Amino acid sequence: MTGGEAKLIDQAGRMLGPKAVITDPKEIEPWVTDWRGRFHGATPAILAPASREEVAQIVRLAAEHGVPLVPQGGNTGMAAGATPPADGSAILLSTRRMNRIRSISADSRLAVAEAGVILATLHETAYQVGLRFPLTLGARGSCTLGGLTSTNAGGTQVLKFGTMRSLVAGVEAVLPDGSIHDGLSALKKDNRGYSLDQLLIGAEGTLGVITAVALRLVPTIAARAVAWAGVESPAKALDLLRFLEARTHNIEGFELVPQDSLDLVLKHIPNTRAPLAGKHDWHVLVEATTSDTEIDIAGELEHLLGAALQQGIIGDAVLAANGAQADAFWKLRDTISEAERAEGQTLAHDISVPVAAMPAFIVEASAKVEQAFPGLVASGFGHLGDGNIHFHVRAASHAAPDWYEAEGEKVTRMVDDLVTDAGGSISAEHGIGQLKLAEFARLAPPGRIHVLRAIKQALDPLGIMNPGKLVP
Ligand SMILES: Cc1cc2nc3c(=O)[nH]c(=O)nc-3n(C[C@H](O)[C@H](O)[C@H](O)COP(=O)(O)OP(=O)(O)OC[C@H]3O[C@@H](n4cnc5c(N)ncnc54)[C@H](O)[C@@H]3O)c2cc1C
Repeated sequence: MTGGEAKLIDQAGRMLGPKAVITDPKEIEPWVTDWRGRFHGATPAILAPASREEVAQIVRLAAEHGVPLVPQGGNTGMAAGATPPADGSAILLSTRRMNRIRSISADSRLAVAEAGVILATLHETAYQVGLRFPLTLGARGSCTLGGLTSTNAGGTQVLKFGTMRSLVAGVEAVLPDGSIHDGLSALKKDNRGYSLDQLLIGAEGTLGVITAVALRLVPTIAARAVAWAGVESPAKALDLLRFLEARTHNIEGFELVPQDSLDLVLKHIPNTRAPLAGKHDWHVLVEATTSDTEIDIAGELEHLLGAALQQGIIGDAVLAANGAQADAFWKLRDTISEAERAEGQTLAHDISVPVAAMPAFIVEASAKVEQAFPGLVASGFGHLGDGNIHFHVRAASHAAPDWYEAEGEKVTRMVDDLVTDAGGSISAEHGIGQLKLAEFARLAPPGRIHVLRAIKQALDPLGIMNPGKLVP
């Protein structure tokens, strides 16, 4: 530990009290490795302020002593953005004690909540007042609003409600000079030039510490219907989405699942069964919702799928008979990664290309990767309607234990090249963090990198906010 870090920890402890400073290595240890377990960092302390003023005090101390800070929420991020560097040169700033929902209003349909509030807590609180925060994802029990905002997270409802960027109405943050930006009044119109709120969304903690957010809410669901359909190709799956969208505004979830992924789930995940009797090369999970009690949502979806069947868009379909069956369908989708892990080594790529180009991309990119690396299995599943799939490449069954380390980089470079050639993004919803920094630097247009660096330099000239992440 250098003198600067020791002084920062000591002064923070005296200013904020012992609750705000954790230096016990055992307590620190679970928080210095990323969720996937691929990046291992070190830090002499976790600082856990309880208010925006305390965050500001810490940031000012960090600037004074030239010590970098790594903001951290639930540490569920997929790009190791919240993992400190391995040399122990940075301090973790955890938002765990900033977990108050300051207000929630049915009139304005807004919640103002602190950065450390867990997503599931917001869901429950909103539900109690007849509202819903329409973004959810697998980590909802531990990820925080600050982390979700900082990674501009997506999830399974983006099709209808967009990513965090669409749902955040205002941001409160401590900037790298210790000043406070208060954008929580959530103005519908505000044309005073550059939007600091928008800069902070998706900034992965590199431009400041988000202390609270104002979030848009929608009415709770009155009813939902979930169906599983078999289709012959990703192109047919997209045809189905377009068919449904032309006839209803109620489609909220639309997930693509290849037969191969379904087989793995059925093999490795207990209590799962195929929804359809016959085999189909591809499957689609459709969820329709309504907040209107007058609408027969199940009847509507059943009718539309019947019409799609008649027109040859789908090969078969089944509607979940009840909530438990609907959850069972979602389980098939949500456990694909887990099933892949049980099967062997898998390289995950969270990528996007223009929606219309996605069906051909999945088929062609899979074939190219499998041809270039014989024995590997490549496929895509996920949010087809957002042009975002998880393009996963599985090792051959006889692969060496170090396949991931030995071959992973080559495979990823090929996938990223294919994505870039298709006009896509090598990070659709997980961010850049440390995981994708080198590939981002290799593939992003120079102008984009230049602007990123210029913004970072302007707001954080001392480089104390999460250095080594996002900005190459
Ligand atoms: C099982 C699982 C499923 C997931 N599914 C999805 C999915 O469907 N879609 C999707 O988009 N993502 C998904 N994710 C990843 C998702 O991005 C994270 O769960 C979430 O957005 C990060 O929240 P967190 O509080 O854990 O942030 P952390 O992991 O702690 O941090 C993430 C980044 O945000 C920064 N940060 C955190 N808090 C702040 C703050 N207050 N101010 C400034 N910077 C901050 C960190 O420095 C880091 O760069 C999934 C993750 C898991 C584990």
